[in-house]
Amino acid sequence: MMEKAEKQWQNWSRSLPPSPAPVETPSSVQELTALMLSHSQGVRPVGSGHSWMPLVPTKHAIVKLDHFSSVGDIDPLTHQAWLGAGAKLHDLSPQLSERGYAFRNLGDIDVQTLAGATSTGTHGTGKELQGLAAEVQGVRLVTGTGEQIEIGDQENTEWLSGARVALGALGIITEIKMQLVERFKLHRQVWPASNKHTLENAERYWNENRNFEFFYIPFSDTSLLLTHNVTTAPSTPPNEDTSASGMMQLKSLRDSLKWFTPLRRWLLKRAIANEPTENVIGESWDLLASERNVRFNEMEYHLPVERGLEALEEVRHYIETKRPDVFFPFEARQTKGDDAWLSPFNGGNRVSVAVHCYHKDAFDFLFTDVEPIFQKYGGRPHWGKLNSMTAAQARAWYPDFDKFAALRRELDPDGRLLNGYLLDLFEA
Ligand SMILES: Cc1cc2nc3c(=O)[nH]c(=O)nc-3n(C[C@H](O)[C@H](O)[C@H](O)COP(=O)(O)OP(=O)(O)OC[C@H]3O[C@@H](n4cnc5c(N)ncnc54)[C@H](O)[C@@H]3O)c2cc1C
Repeated sequence: MMEKAEKQWQNWSRSLPPSPAPVETPSSVQELTALMLSHSQGVRPVGSGHSWMPLVPTKHAIVKLDHFSSVGDIDPLTHQAWLGAGAKLHDLSPQLSERGYAFRNLGDIDVQTLAGATSTGTHGTGKELQGLAAEVQGVRLVTGTGEQIEIGDQENTEWLSGARVALGALGIITEIKMQLVERFKLHRQVWPASNKHTLENAERYWNENRNFEFFYIPFSDTSLLLTHNVTTAPSTPPNEDTSASGMMQLKSLRDSLKWFTPLRRWLLKRAIANEPTENVIGESWDLLASERNVRFNEMEYHLPVERGLEALEEVRHYIETKRPDVFFPFEARQTKGDDAWLSPFNGGNRVSVAVHCYHKDAFDFLFTDVEPIFQKYGGRPHWGKLNSMTAAQARAWYPDFDKFAALRRELDPDGRLLNGYLLDLFEA
């Protein structure tokens, strides 16, 4: 039987108002199809609600695939398997690991559902590593006309690049065929370095490590650098996760020294230099993703590699001269290019730069002052994170945008899956 959740749906950071639509949790494809056909508009799939953009809100029906979380057989030759689209990545990883497999890469967290993560182009970091959507080899979905179809290497092959990053606009995905790899362990190292050193050596670190990223701590001239590399050495005991307490320390320094930047800088530099460095070995999925217990709002743009760090420097200069209220670290990563029509990494590698604001702080400056800098450097926004990209900009920045819009019209001619945001994007 289909269940209804009691509380109104809202996204993780609560940046969007609560949505009045009932949350439906169909337990079979038949129930899902009936649900789709019982509404003439505004049927919106949701994952874990970890996006900031209004991709989900609707007055009609929010559809959560909690009952679609199976793990199919893993082909020993291709290392591919059909996985339930509503399964959370952190539930899938241990199950895959038990069978000897893993996702090739993950982002900072793994609480997203599989379909939620792939549908917005979720990524981790690594010069030779693509985003999760590039690992999608097939999808099974219920389209806006209530048809159950498969897109992949057997059927509707020509649509696969469209279906990889689809914002829930082509249909409700029930299963995804993912490319997996044999399970592996990683050696994680974390250490502080000056901003100058980080910028001068970032390209080298990206070249020399499987995964490299850094967090620049505002008003400190210092970054925390993270690398992960494959190892077969024995696992070490895990480090205690101190990220939430660290974030609250940055906040209290901001609260007391907002207007005393030189003292804030001096104290921060000293504190970060005294932070213990990390040196741990464990299962890939356990080390790549971590918890984010302090809520925030975030804008992330994916920039052409040669301009990414220049953009970061301009954003840093703006924030350190105009926004003493910012204390969350900026994050810089690199992702390998792919060919999904709406992937921000379509056409080549990109450096991603993210700016975060504490959830109780103002974040309008991200739109007025930070976003123009990202756009000036040729950035494309993360589909799930704060941005004001218009339909005209999306068309100009994505060579295959019109191909996707045409496929959307073919699979959902009556616009059952559209909400206000998607209507503006695809039908403006
Ligand atoms: C704390 C935090 C950390 C994050 N870290 C990263 C990171 O490291 N890297 C990164 O790239 N992003 C990151 N994100 C962004 C996040 O990965 C994306 O916003 C992702 O889409 C969220 O997944 P979700 O399951 O919550 O999906 P939702 O946000 O619920 O939905 C996202 C999209 O997927 C669609 N969708 C969901 N289920 C289905 C389905 N079954 N069929 C069809 N469409 C569906 C929805 O309609 C919507 O368009 C982070 C977000 C947060 C809040």
